[in-house]
Amino acid sequence: MTTLSLYAPGTRVYLPRESEEEGWITAEVVTCTKVSADALKLVLRDESGQETTLTGTLPPLRNPPLLESADDLATLSHLNEPSVLYAVQSRYAQRKIYTYSGIVLLAVNPFEPVPLYTPEIVKSYIGRNKGELEPHLFAIAEDAREVRWIFLNSRLKLTDGCDESGAGKTESAKLVMRFIAAPKAPATNADQNSFVDGASLVEQQIQATNPILEAFGNAKTTRNDNSSRFGKFIQLLFDSNRQIVGARVRTYLLERTRISYQTTTERNYHIFYQLCAGLPSKNLESLRISADYSQFHYLNQGGPSSAELSDRDKFHATQDALNIIGIDAGKQTSIFQVLAALLHLGNINITQTRTEAIIEDEDPAMVQAMEFLGVNLTEFKRWTIKKQITTRSEKIATTLTAPQAVQVRDSISRFVYACLFEWLVTAINESLTGKYGDAAARAETHIGVLDIYGFEHFEKNSFEQFCINYANERLQHEFNTYVFKLAQDDYVKEKINWTFIDFDDNQPAIDLMEGKLGILSILDEESRLPLGTDASFLQKLNAQLDKPANKAVYKMPKFANAAFTIAHYALDVTYQVEGFLEKNRDTVPEEQLALLTASSNPFLREVVDTALHRVGEPVEPPSPNGAVSKIPDPGRTSLVGTTGRGTSVKKPTLGSIFKGSLGTLMDMLRTTNVHYIRCLKPNQHKMPWEFHPSQVLAQLRAAGVLETIRISTAGYPSRWTFETFARRYYILIHWREGPPLIKREQWKRITVLVLQKAGIDKSKHQFGETKIFLRTGVLATLEALRSARL
Ligand code: ADP
Ligand code: MG
Repeated sequence: MTTLSLYAPGTRVYLPRESEEEGWITAEVVTCTKVSADALKLVLRDESGQETTLTGTLPPLRNPPLLESADDLATLSHLNEPSVLYAVQSRYAQRKIYTYSGIVLLAVNPFEPVPLYTPEIVKSYIGRNKGELEPHLFAIAEDAREVRWIFLNSRLKLTDGCDESGAGKTESAKLVMRFIAAPKAPATNADQNSFVDGASLVEQQIQATNPILEAFGNAKTTRNDNSSRFGKFIQLLFDSNRQIVGARVRTYLLERTRISYQTTTERNYHIFYQLCAGLPSKNLESLRISADYSQFHYLNQGGPSSAELSDRDKFHATQDALNIIGIDAGKQTSIFQVLAALLHLGNINITQTRTEAIIEDEDPAMVQAMEFLGVNLTEFKRWTIKKQITTRSEKIATTLTAPQAVQVRDSISRFVYACLFEWLVTAINESLTGKYGDAAARAETHIGVLDIYGFEHFEKNSFEQFCINYANERLQHEFNTYVFKLAQDDYVKEKINWTFIDFDDNQPAIDLMEGKLGILSILDEESRLPLGTDASFLQKLNAQLDKPANKAVYKMPKFANAAFTIAHYALDVTYQVEGFLEKNRDTVPEEQLALLTASSNPFLREVVDTALHRVGEPVEPPSPNGAVSKIPDPGRTSLVGTTGRGTSVKKPTLGSIFKGSLGTLMDMLRTTNVHYIRCLKPNQHKMPWEFHPSQVLAQLRAAGVLETIRISTAGYPSRWTFETFARRYYILIHWREGPPLIKREQWKRITVLVLQKAGIDKSKHQFGETKIFLRTGVLATLEALRSARL
């Protein structure tokens, strides 16, 4: 088709509005004339009747009405940004929140309960192929479940919001788990958060992990009332009879600063409020807390809750879940006591004389906290207001200032809380894999669900955002590699004709962060120097990284002091260096650590020990019968990194532990088949059914949605070696002397003959060096012919 006829009068197009922010307006071509060899003059009438003339530039074409809200964006015949956006938007307006985009499922957050997850719907997706019904999370989950049996390898699902918090990743992950772990005949319970009636114990236990992890690891943030403050990878384990036998949970990088500090629009972890609202007054009294939590410094800095369900109801759900996991009432009381101890710890009054921090001997909060923690009060007080320095010949205690002492106090609260979270994850795993990892040993296959924090950019970004965005950068790279590189590399290797599609490779940003001389290694080096500071860290960063070679990814911001900027795949983020060293070192003073491990509270000792011992250890103890799990394990991933117990071994920093666990996770992603679900946030105000085009477009762009579709439509989704192809389809040929012995020299020739015989058009395939590449649909034709012959 010539350009002239492409833009014939009556053609539907999109016109950009005044500012790109506002997106496009639809229009129709009124006249189209050729003004030079390669330029057209178009007169267009937009939807409001206004006429515009365009010379030289060609507006994007609009799809025929039939295709406009296609359920797979890959079927759009005109593939451009406005078309893609329009399709997602018009589907959302029809209350269709899911859309396929080639291999990716797009999910736009409805921000209100939708009737899409009823038992009837669950049932309807079981045993159905992806294209048969409306796009849905369940279709992807079913695909993962079924294909696993065909190829007998593990299948991994990745729930990944390309945008920030509140996109719907965690809700999607829960729904997927519910679908996969649900009994084949679903129960009649329509409540999406309740346990499925008639579910087996394992299934109930799997569902119970969610309320527990959410109570202890989620909090209200500005963007999401129930924001996960940790990353999570759950492996559902199946035996050879396709029965679910257990599960394994790995968590990543629980945010710790939240324990001691929240802004006025955010809250501490849900469990604290749940505890205050939900415990009977008798129990509250014995913990010396009350329903009015405003007396606690750790809870009164933040704002109130706006959750629909009260903290009190949630508390009961948390308790039920703990029971199902096998954490009995006695253990629960111990947990609550530790939590109460942390609240009291936060209320210890630290003041200052002219130069030194002081705490009253009888400080009631301290007395209470030490009683619950089972820690010696005098010793605790001493090592909160003093610091011990070991020189070559002796130990000297120096005094601390009040802010330094507060820092010590808060580091203990954060440490104990992180240990408690670790302990819970261990307890969950013990109940989900059997105490000796029996279930893991019996498992033949697994489906993993990864729900990891989305990209974050706030006004002030710190070490936490750095780590989160580092993780997202790596995940994005994995995605790019998976979709783009692998596809294209194969074309190169096989030397077929192929027009390259540009995609934004983010390897330079990753190298900048984790490379040998990158940010993380400079940070580690500086963290180990006794005199290292945030300022000296920044100095080294700039000296090392502010070079022409890094121009595209590393910047020194012009106006912000004490900060550096990284150009991430999604956007530029400026990080304030303040606190980087402290957070990366993640230290609790040795003396305080010794007090905790020697606590007279056996539960606390167990909690701290579990967390400390798990560093670097195999996750499940060996099974008594010696069986070893066949399922790859991303390993120990959490971040209680303090192992300095009198050994001279270098303490791992938070940054290095995170880098390691991310590496193992990525290795595992690479060996599995991955499904991607991209969660999109249609507006910033959490408003149901409100769609802001510019915001969604930014997310679609950041996720490379358009490129993904281009690849899957322009590419050859099926690629078989000549041998495999020949062996499967040689029967389509009528062999005069009976079927041949298939020899190496004949593989390619048989492939040629099969395609001729089946009448496959030349445009539908290409011959590589060792493989045949086929367009969509070809394989289906061949399969049909083959079954007819059998
Ligand atoms: P993320 O994990 O991406 O930060 P969440 O999964 O916590 O986001 O979702 C944020 C909020 O959006 C949820 O608390 C819920 O109110 C709403 N939400 C997300 N997905 C759905 C859905 N499928 N149906 C209804 N509401 C949803
Ligand atoms: Mg989440």
